[in-house]
Amino acid sequence: MLAAVVESSDDAIITKDLDGIILSWNRAAERIFGYSADEAIGNSVAILAVPGRAHEVPEILERVRRGESVDHFETLRRRKDGSVVHVSLTVSPVRNQRGEIIGASKIARDVTARKRMEQDLRDSEARFRGMVEASAEGIWILDPYGVTTFVNRRLTEMLGYEEHEIVGRPAVDFLHPDERQRGVEAFEQRKQGGDFEPREYRILRSDGSEIWLSVIGSAMYGAGGSLTGVVEMCTDITERRRNEQKIRDLNRELGAKLAELETLVNVVPVGIVLCDHECRSLRLNPAAQKMLGVGDDCELSQFRVRRHGAELPLENWPMQISVRTGKGVVEEELEVILPSGKVIYVLSATSPLLDEQGKVRGAVGCILDVTARKNVEDGLRRANVALEQFAYAAAHDLQEPVRNVVLYSQLLAQDYAGRFDAKADKLINVTVEGARRMQALIQDLLSYARAGSDENTAEAFADANVVAAEVVQNLRTAIDAEQASVEAAELPLVAMRHGHLLQVLQNLVSNGLKYRRADAPRIEISAMRQGAEWIFTVRDNGQGISPEHHHRIFGVFKRLHGRDVPGTGIGLAICERVVTHYGGRIWVESEAGRGSAFRFTVPALRGAQ
Ligand code: ADP
Repeated sequence: MLAAVVESSDDAIITKDLDGIILSWNRAAERIFGYSADEAIGNSVAILAVPGRAHEVPEILERVRRGESVDHFETLRRRKDGSVVHVSLTVSPVRNQRGEIIGASKIARDVTARKRMEQDLRDSEARFRGMVEASAEGIWILDPYGVTTFVNRRLTEMLGYEEHEIVGRPAVDFLHPDERQRGVEAFEQRKQGGDFEPREYRILRSDGSEIWLSVIGSAMYGAGGSLTGVVEMCTDITERRRNEQKIRDLNRELGAKLAELETLVNVVPVGIVLCDHECRSLRLNPAAQKMLGVGDDCELSQFRVRRHGAELPLENWPMQISVRTGKGVVEEELEVILPSGKVIYVLSATSPLLDEQGKVRGAVGCILDVTARKNVEDGLRRANVALEQFAYAAAHDLQEPVRNVVLYSQLLAQDYAGRFDAKADKLINVTVEGARRMQALIQDLLSYARAGSDENTAEAFADANVVAAEVVQNLRTAIDAEQASVEAAELPLVAMRHGHLLQVLQNLVSNGLKYRRADAPRIEISAMRQGAEWIFTVRDNGQGISPEHHHRIFGVFKRLHGRDVPGTGIGLAICERVVTHYGGRIWVESEAGRGSAFRFTVPALRGAQ
């Protein structure tokens, strides 16, 4: 009965004498060590010894001799095929009926499988730990109550706490107070095995700063299926959140700017027109809608455009040019014929709209309605022309009667001087003087009116050297009388009528002779090129003009001198009228007592230097 138990045991059961000679060997011993009972019995147990552990056999026998047992001693033994087996040995002394120790019984349990499992476990734990520590993610393991049981190094870095400061504390302690309720709820859900969505939490670090973690977790279960905790994987998303915030701020700013811009576009009294790259349909702001008498979108082809009275083909409209060339176009003035047939005048500036790649995706145009200004200008121009015609006609028609008044008052003075009393003589002289002065004024007025007459300036041409020589010749008598010198430098050919240049230069030189000081007058005429113009200078060494009068003297009948110096105050007005007729300017540089330099610009001849 006992023998049957021994034979059916899973453990090797061996008996040996005190010298270690094997006396019995059950079936399990055969299986575990590979020796049959026949091979083993009679042999020493030393056949099972492993090099390096051979000393164990006599040591165990020694203990047995002393009556001691060896319990669950784990060691290695060699099998018959040379391989090694992990065994747990329990050795007890065997006594005879007299109680003397005569041998030992040994139970050897094969623990190789368990040992291997233990090793595998250790290996896998080391691998797991290596992975966890090397992870770029923070790993946070909580027990079922939410208390930290493990954190990896990365998580300690993220939180700024030592491992021992985190482990043993509830994870919610580290959440920002506002986040804690949410944290607890999420943990409960995870415990139920749900909620695999990443969640974002604001975390308080040990130094008080805040970071954002994205946390994804899952429940862990033990062998019996019971919950052992929750593992949370944590990613630092502070930078991303910061960028998102920046983008949100920027978007808000952009939105506000856009709203401002939209308001501006809606209220600005300038028409704003947008077209796409086909330049067919238009979108208009309220000002443009009002100006053009259409709704907020319409077709370009509903309009017609004229420049200087000539119709512009559609492809030459500013918006079309901007879309085609990718360049801005600024137009002085265009005439737009609206769908209703009404005509308006606009100033326009267009600019291409580019996409991100810099390709033209349309154009934007700004239009300013200048119809009212244009009408006023036209009215003024017409009134001016009428006024000039009237002045001219009046002056012209007055010439004849004034000539008669001069003539007859002179005759009266000649023939009747001394015939009446002295008072009558004086009155006659005053009449003669007044009549002469009126005649001079009328003649000057006529020249002034003629100076601005609308002569074509396109073909105008003069050699300023010839003109200057003619001026000197015309003023010869006065030059000699004043003992003056008039010198002209080398002068250019200019795009101005000979008669007009003569009128200007002669007026300026004769003023130089008239408004002299005690020294003999010295007058120089010169010219200097600047861009498409010549700047002429007539410089004298006369009385000069203080700066506050510089502008005034160009007005009609404006004089700084009294009757002591003859003149009507029209000479400089004529000069200005002639010069501006050619698109030029006239001005004076002078100070009282220091001579004057009158300057004016004249268009250069095209192509001439
Ligand atoms: P007028 O010579 O007939 O008075 P202008 O129109 O030629 O008329 O000149 C207007 C005024 O400008 C003159 O009365 C004079 O006071 C002043 N003026 C013109 N030229 C000179 C000059 N070269 N030097 C000083 N004053 C001048």
